[in-house]
Amino acid sequence: MPNYDFECQDCHKKFEVRATIQEMEEGKISCVECKSKNIKRIFNGFGFSSGKTSSLSASSSSPCSTCSSGSCSTCR
Ligand SMILES: [Zn+2]
Repeated sequence: MPNYDFECQDCHKKFEVRATIQEMEEGKISCVECKSKNIKRIFNGFGFSSGKTSSLSASSSSPCSTCSSGSCSTCR
């Protein structure tokens, strides 16, 4: 059984859990500190840094503030 790293989104405790993928998918993992199920998996060894890369894309996708396509005449 592999170990998985998690970070609790409530108390921000980082902890390691030995579990199967099935146990993770069924939501049986909870924070060791506050028992919260609001936890996030931390991936190690892939260059990820538990960042917020996904939440930034929505606001920065359009280069133009007046049209949504970024190709109108007032954009440039
Ligand atoms: Zn917690």
